[in-house]
Amino acid sequence: MRVGVLGGGQLGRMLALAGIPLGATFVFYGPEAQPPAGVAGAVVRGEWDDEEALDRFVTMVDVVTLEFENVPLGCARWLAARRPFWPPPSILEVAQDRVAEKRCFQRLGIPVPAFAEVDTPEQARRAAAELGAPGILKTRRFGYDGKGQLRVSDPDDAADACAVLGGVPLIYERVVPFTRELSVIAARGADGRVVVYPLAENHHHRGILRESIAPAPGVAPSVEAAALRHVSAVLEEFGYVGVLALELFETSDGLIANEMAPRVHNSGHWTIEGAAPSQFENHVRAVCGLPVGVPQLAGAARMLNVLGALPDSSALLAISGVRLHLYGKRPAPGRKLGHVTVVSPDPEATRDVASVARRFLGDASPD
Ligand code: AMP
Repeated sequence: MRVGVLGGGQLGRMLALAGIPLGATFVFYGPEAQPPAGVAGAVVRGEWDDEEALDRFVTMVDVVTLEFENVPLGCARWLAARRPFWPPPSILEVAQDRVAEKRCFQRLGIPVPAFAEVDTPEQARRAAAELGAPGILKTRRFGYDGKGQLRVSDPDDAADACAVLGGVPLIYERVVPFTRELSVIAARGADGRVVVYPLAENHHHRGILRESIAPAPGVAPSVEAAALRHVSAVLEEFGYVGVLALELFETSDGLIANEMAPRVHNSGHWTIEGAAPSQFENHVRAVCGLPVGVPQLAGAARMLNVLGALPDSSALLAISGVRLHLYGKRPAPGRKLGHVTVVSPDPEATRDVASVARRFLGDASPD
């Protein structure tokens, strides 16, 4: 099976590393000349609307998937008319717009934060006054890793916040008083079978994921069941094939959905060592029409992102139990350059080893 992947970042690279043992080969498409995934497959360089380059890409692959959900819809639809394309473009349309995404969650009975569409600065002020502050103004499209967001503590600051974000359209969300952030990752096969990974507990720093702990400790069975219900509802709604992640806030009133990612997800990197099959293998299996596998856990896992600066690899690898993944990217502030995973039957041990490993992650990953 020749798998075409839109985007060539670390997620594509890890998809290929998981899929090659199954006999799959990979072709990555995107505007970058030397993407991180290029070491694991062929690269077709092109803009998202370059039909000539897309044509060349299509002839090289049997199925198309993605590792980057902001692929323009026109491009996704053009490809979907020529090859099996997973996840379906219909979910991209929803996931690319925070308002459409929240409406979809509401339709499926998945709780969301109180929110309002903001099409003028005056609407931002009114939203903050009516829904309550503090809130967060976010760009409707193309936000990631906390970019394109501003906290609003006073409705009178909302109009200025709009300007800082580069203008409307925006969405205003009331700040959710969460106890912690969780995510659920599930895979749906072409036969409709759904498998789910245990919830991960996620810690962010300035909007960027810094650490995931899986299985998230102390999750009530009712919370685990609600997460499964929510992620399954989205998978079924779209006739989804592949891996989907749902980011959740845990509150005293239950789970509230933040956003979804129609792809493999950073909070599932622990599955490479912590579960078999990993999220990457299950995604490749699904898009290739192979059965998805129920994850068998190797133990408790912790994943630390390597952010901004390259780590001291020698020091990290001298720590027993530390597994290091580097993505071949050039350092830049806040950029995800790699991750470290620690897996042990003993959750306490993962905490102790991870706290030693954190010392060698580089200066740009502060406490
Ligand atoms: P996002 O890009 O929407 O995933 O937001 C990045 C991070 O900002 C989240 O992981 C949360 O830590 C925080 N955040 C976003 N929206 C909210 C909200 N409505 N209430 C509280 N925290 C939020």
